[in-house]
Amino acid sequence: MNLLLDDVTLTYADGEGRLTALDSVSLEVPSGGLTAVVGPSGSGKSSLLAVAATLVTPDRGRVVVDGTDTGTLDRAGKAALRRERIGIVFQQPNLLPSLTAAEQLQAMAHLTGRAPRGSRGRALELLDAVGLADQARRRPHQLSGGQRQRVNIARALMNDPAVLLVDEPTSALDHERGAAVLDLLVTLTRERGTATVLVTHDRAHLERMDRTVSVRDGRLYGPGGEDPAGNGSPGDAPVRG
Ligand code: ADP
Ligand code: MG
Repeated sequence: MNLLLDDVTLTYADGEGRLTALDSVSLEVPSGGLTAVVGPSGSGKSSLLAVAATLVTPDRGRVVVDGTDTGTLDRAGKAALRRERIGIVFQQPNLLPSLTAAEQLQAMAHLTGRAPRGSRGRALELLDAVGLADQARRRPHQLSGGQRQRVNIARALMNDPAVLLVDEPTSALDHERGAAVLDLLVTLTRERGTATVLVTHDRAHLERMDRTVSVRDGRLYGPGGEDPAGNGSPGDAPVRG
């Protein structure tokens, strides 16, 4: 098991009071497993990813990444965990305009202070894995939206993460390219053994996922819309994916 959210509650300051973005959320994703998260806008999907990514500290509950309870880490420890064990793919690729596709990936290896030696080879291998073997020398403006999103995904895998967190990767793509990107994420999850959480609006492709959970008002529901996980009697298992 590589990602565990255990009874996580997250609130934000909201005027006089607090807004509950995540309400007692439990989720378990094993290595090589992909869980899709769906839900209306504002339901808490991105908050769930932000907590799993250790970018936001929950009010309550545990986040365990690759065996490390992130509650035991200070800021620097969390930053190191993110660099080394967590791959994050946001909606917009945010590629650096002046770098080629291969260099976008190599820059990630530099961030971890790894020897640049070998990083070119790994970058080219990953670009091949996302179907961009022949685009390695192109810069972002020379790539299509779908190709840029593939570079974004390859970049997130550069440091061989245990956990891959993906937020609405297809929202800027047409249906066909979106389907291809989701297929790619399923394949990469299997091949690389990541524990993957994929937030998507695109309900059309959910049958490709191992499991789908939905978020409404900060609470997590299983595929059949049953009661929120981890909220019932003691001993209830978290939602597994
Ligand atoms: P989703 O990704 O499903 O659209 P979010 O996780 O972004 O939902 O937001 C969940 C709720 O938390 C929303 O009501 C949103 O307005 C609120 N929210 C999100 N981020 C913040 C923040 N940094 N400060 C205050 N409220 C926030
Ligand atoms: Mg969101």
